[in-house]
Amino acid sequence: MDMIQNLFSLKGKTALVTGARTGIGQAISVGLASAGAHVLLLGHRDNLDETKAKIDEAGGICETVLVDLGEVPQIREKIKPVLEKHSIDILVNNAGIIYREPAVDYDEQEWMRVIDVNLNAVFILSQEIGRGMVERGSGKIINIASLLSFQGGVFVPAYTASKHAVAGLTKSLANEWARYGVQVNAIAPGYIETNNTEAIRNDNKRQQSILERIPAGRWGRPDDMVGAALFLASKASDYVNGHVLVVDGGWMAR
Ligand code: NAP
Repeated sequence: MDMIQNLFSLKGKTALVTGARTGIGQAISVGLASAGAHVLLLGHRDNLDETKAKIDEAGGICETVLVDLGEVPQIREKIKPVLEKHSIDILVNNAGIIYREPAVDYDEQEWMRVIDVNLNAVFILSQEIGRGMVERGSGKIINIASLLSFQGGVFVPAYTASKHAVAGLTKSLANEWARYGVQVNAIAPGYIETNNTEAIRNDNKRQQSILERIPAGRWGRPDDMVGAALFLASKASDYVNGHVLVVDGGWMAR
């Protein structure tokens, strides 16, 4: 039991999770807090009460940080006071948005917004928070990638481009920072029941055809991501670098 505690406990660690209000970010925040981490819940509107209540219920500790990750030029300034107050051991770059439109009509502003939140903000937060990790000689960065880090998808060119880039950035930062004791890895979730997939779940034909390809025979739930996140956030993954861990009920194996 002691060995397991030693490998997976996050007692004394501070984690920052972006997009912590809902879905995968909420589940990972509760999971990290349950493992003992003090969790900084990053959202862009002051409405993280549901996540806070779940962490309270689990006996964990958290606080809220408000930063709009779509306002890229302001991120460094907004995160500065957080870094003055906390030394962050675990960064989960989870916040992400999707915009669907056929490529020939794809709105340029929406393209920019998706790339800003899903990629540019991920780099800036990794740089600002990773700097301290490199100086201290330890840290964990977990990026939330996607099956569209490997596949093309339909009607979501900005999302696909951003998620391919997130996988590349994960490997790039891992190569630079592994020698400093900082592990940078990613989780690529399969099809998960969250706001992100509401539109395709409401399209009965699409929902069914996706389901038919999932060997596990069901869509994923946000909680399905927690085990992988705990592994990548803890000592258990100290020799895992630049890996994109697919958690998809077998979709990619099909
Ligand atoms: P979600 O419930 O829509 O979560 C996205 C989170 O990001 C929300 O909490 C949202 O906050 C936050 N966010 C959006 N724009 C933001 C901004 N400008 N600044 C700060 N936070 C912002 O969907 P999810 O599925 O859990 O998504 C989490 C991650 O998983 C995303 O990176 C997504 O691409 C990835 N992913 C999801 C699936 C899936 O099947 N669901 C599959 C692969 C990858 P508000 O709700 O307050 O706007």
